[in-house]
Amino acid sequence: MRDPASGLLSRAMTQIKFKLHKTDGLARRGTLHTPRGDIRTPAFMPVGTAATVKAMLPGSVRETGADILLGNTYHLMLRPSAARIERLGGLHKFMNWDKPILTDSGGFQVMSLAGLRKLTEEGVTFSSHVDGSKHMLSPETSMEIQRQLGSDIVMAFDECTPYPCTREEAETSMRMSMRWAQRSRDAFGDRPGYALFGIQQGGIHEDLRAESAEALRGIGFDGYAVGGLAVGEGPELMFSTLDHCVGHLPDNRPRYLMGVGKPDDLLGAVERGIDMFDCVLPSRSGRNGQVFTPRGPLNIRNARHADDPRPLDEHCDCPACSSYSRAYLHHVHRAQEIIASMLLTWHNLRYYQRLMQGMRDAIETRQFTKFASDTRAAWAQGDIEPM
Ligand SMILES: [Zn+2]
Repeated sequence: MRDPASGLLSRAMTQIKFKLHKTDGLARRGTLHTPRGDIRTPAFMPVGTAATVKAMLPGSVRETGADILLGNTYHLMLRPSAARIERLGGLHKFMNWDKPILTDSGGFQVMSLAGLRKLTEEGVTFSSHVDGSKHMLSPETSMEIQRQLGSDIVMAFDECTPYPCTREEAETSMRMSMRWAQRSRDAFGDRPGYALFGIQQGGIHEDLRAESAEALRGIGFDGYAVGGLAVGEGPELMFSTLDHCVGHLPDNRPRYLMGVGKPDDLLGAVERGIDMFDCVLPSRSGRNGQVFTPRGPLNIRNARHADDPRPLDEHCDCPACSSYSRAYLHHVHRAQEIIASMLLTWHNLRYYQRLMQGMRDAIETRQFTKFASDTRAAWAQGDIEPM
């Protein structure tokens, strides 16, 4: 049923629902149904930090194949403020993106960006990195801010345990996050058509990850995130932690690995049963001239591209590849023209979505192992020979 005012499927009629279509090994192909549209999983979510995916129009982000965006609670609460966004009709309307939005809880960025933080059982008080103003984030205020933004998928408020840390620190931090998970659940309440995801913590310790998963399952969430990884532990420890932490999460809910990552991280995590990702890497790298291709990354700044009439990737259908040469992209990047950020961001986001599509197709046909080894072999080849 469509709500005539918004044109959306009625929230009450469409609970957020996850359907698992197929598995291949531990890799999973599913769909997360939401009133604002379906999210095909495994899914990559581009990051729209300050209500924009930098250098991209929302329609262009959609054209890359994204079903969902991530917004940052911390940035939006400070500027322009959640109350202002709510008055202006919510984040979807404000930024002109009508597909689903997931917002983080703000906790991670408070710890990485804000000044003068004080962490207590109640929450975190901090001063804004923008203007020094004082703020408070707690499970309750984070749920309220994410409601004001109108986020479709709300993340529980947690502490992202820093790395490295002692086992005792990981345990204390995880247990507080689990108490905060319960408070997040209570504060979120009953909101048909909106989802709340819990976040597993526990550092790199298998028993703590298991304890955290059990606590979250006991509370009950619409999806489960793996938090506290990709914080400096390196790919080997990340994968060995994933090897033992994913299996503790429920099979019938989406699993989201937060803040990851490079293309080979995505492939390795899907291989281990992860369904959702977000990362600033494709967009940030695009602005810095780093380009992802099926033959590994390249840097468009390098002099070898200055006379090269070929596209970045002859098989890519993005505007950068279909209409521009490496020589042109090299020139506009070196000249710091805005179009360089636009085209390279578009290409990188398209590459990420093509990689996800490739993984989804491979799981459908139970060819994931072959897809993974072919993809890794192509990355290892390196860029095409210079002309
Ligand atoms: Zn391209």
